[in-house]
Amino acid sequence: MAAFFMKEDPGGVMHAFITRLFPICRSITGDGVRETLRLVQDQIPIELHEVPTGTQVFDWSVPKEWNIRDAWVKDSSGQRLIDFCEHNLQVVNYSSPVHRRMRLAELKEHLHTLPERPEWIPYRTTYYEENWGFCLCENQLATFDDDQEYDVCIDSSLEDGYLTYGECLLSGEESAEVLISCHVCHPSLANDNLSGIAVAVELARYLAKSPHRYSYRFVFVPGTIGSITWLARNAEVIPRIRHGIVLACVGDAGSISYKRSRQSEAEIDRAFMHVLKHSGDPYTVAEFSPFGYDERQYCSPGINLPIGCLMRSRPDEFAEYHTSADNLEFVQPWALADSLAKCVAAINVLEGNRVYVNQKPKGEPQLGKRGLYKRLGGSADGRERELALLWVLNLSDGKHSLLDIAERANLPFALVRDASTALSETDLLILG
Ligand code: ZN
Repeated sequence: MAAFFMKEDPGGVMHAFITRLFPICRSITGDGVRETLRLVQDQIPIELHEVPTGTQVFDWSVPKEWNIRDAWVKDSSGQRLIDFCEHNLQVVNYSSPVHRRMRLAELKEHLHTLPERPEWIPYRTTYYEENWGFCLCENQLATFDDDQEYDVCIDSSLEDGYLTYGECLLSGEESAEVLISCHVCHPSLANDNLSGIAVAVELARYLAKSPHRYSYRFVFVPGTIGSITWLARNAEVIPRIRHGIVLACVGDAGSISYKRSRQSEAEIDRAFMHVLKHSGDPYTVAEFSPFGYDERQYCSPGINLPIGCLMRSRPDEFAEYHTSADNLEFVQPWALADSLAKCVAAINVLEGNRVYVNQKPKGEPQLGKRGLYKRLGGSADGRERELALLWVLNLSDGKHSLLDIAERANLPFALVRDASTALSETDLLILG
């Protein structure tokens, strides 16, 4: 696969896309997800799938579709104190419709704040229990009056409809697939997970322009119920998935964090570990746990796909998580570009990870007479390249892959792959 070249500024492009998606009120179903997926469709050729309410998907069933037009809390003078049109986090996501007047004591049962962050609005949902509520800043709540009555309206609908997800397959030389998944159900929250959507879109645009061995399947699904729905409808695809990654919270300024698949030492785990180790950047690696994003579904015991999760700050590491402070300033173009570059580097490892066989395994073959020393010179760089040639020859016994060799030699994968390419052009090395 070609090296990673982009003419444009990918971080700026991704941040601009996030800025377009940010105002939309998404949820696990409804027009906000559709609008989001249509904007993704302007960038890459995804197909939209609509799954009816009530469809059984493993142990779950597709919920009623939720849509919202407006919501407010007004004081006696008619002034909007809480206004969905100002910020869509102000309504508890999936709130059932309500329209009546009530005293503050009753209203308070339905109000959510963050006392420890009095200027932030929390993000709350009530997907699987019919309820309603508003979220607001603690400072704003302080201005409410116990003796007043308030007009409360949530103009929403919760009806039989559809769950919508988007999917795109970029066919490669092989039918074996790499799955890239991100959740598309959060409203105006930038890092969680417009960042994942933006990186996935840019990765798909990049792969669409480059030749590749694997087929790449991108799925844009509502969290939990969306990945469960996708898995339940794609039993025939699952055996073709060889590697995969969930992209979540990949735009903040924190260092990269990789969460291993349930298999723990799958090739995708090793590819990301290798890339991060040789990146020179700080990073952390987390073991698999059945808590987190859609990797929980892909790594459920009856599915057990080799799918990890790439994040920057993990949800428990940033206070802005699930609040109005996860905004457009919280995601950084350079961080988005860095997350994308790490994905491309890991994909380059998967693409190039082959098993070769040394055709002259008795004694070291003579490299000089085949011109393999000529381009080395005396530099440190040259010595590393020579070392890579020797490691490839030594371990290419039909059993060790190039990633095995790179790990054992502690050399960057690209150097080992370049050595295998150079050796393949002589009579010394053939594909296993
Ligand atoms: Zn979330």
